[in-house]
Amino acid sequence: TTFAELGLIEPIARAVADAGYTIPTPIQLQAIPQVLKGGDLLAAAQTGTGKTAGFTLPLLQRLATTPANTRAGRPRALVLTPTRELAAQVAESVKTYGQHLKLSSMVMFGGVSINPQYAQLRKPIDIVIATPGRLLDHVQQKTIDLSAVEILVLDEADRMLDMGFIRDIKKILAIMPPRRQNLLFSATFSDEIRTLADGLLDNPQLVEV
Ligand code: AMP
Repeated sequence: TTFAELGLIEPIARAVADAGYTIPTPIQLQAIPQVLKGGDLLAAAQTGTGKTAGFTLPLLQRLATTPANTRAGRPRALVLTPTRELAAQVAESVKTYGQHLKLSSMVMFGGVSINPQYAQLRKPIDIVIATPGRLLDHVQQKTIDLSAVEILVLDEADRMLDMGFIRDIKKILAIMPPRRQNLLFSATFSDEIRTLADGLLDNPQLVEV
């Protein structure tokens, strides 16, 4: 199976080819068609499996093939990660795989000046990749509006819970529209993760690699 056979549009398949990938990884084979359909996903996947492309490629396609965003600071997709390093990595993947599309993205995490983030949020932005704490800072400042989020990704959800982000995640969930596509990635499945998944996901496809 090729990436194009999974249903990816030409500009995305071309970005994948630019990256040198020829064969989708097992998680990509399972995740891409499900996310393209608009369904929820519960994926047990470690780093190194190709999980980032597994959610980024179909997420980009869903945004690129539906009406664009014209309002500033109002993302259509939100990716939450436990650490700034992972946020930066995902943001890099979004840029690489979206290079032939006209979508905008930004990354936000704590420990750096908030001012450049304000400037970025004054423009239309399709995809925000964030750590929970800094995202909530922006929510409290009203510099970001989460009322148009169509797709939510929780990446490395187990690490987010280990780092004590559950309250932040719940606050973020509470201010997003309830009709939404949700993707949850976790390396491990504790009771706490299962509870989070049960509350969040609607008839999810289960993917294990
Ligand atoms: P991840 O598990 O998302 O951290 O990805 C692990 C590494 O695999 C990254 O360096 C990707 O660039 C690479 N990668 C992802 N998908 C593929 C693929 N289909 N073929 C070859 N390399 C890939």
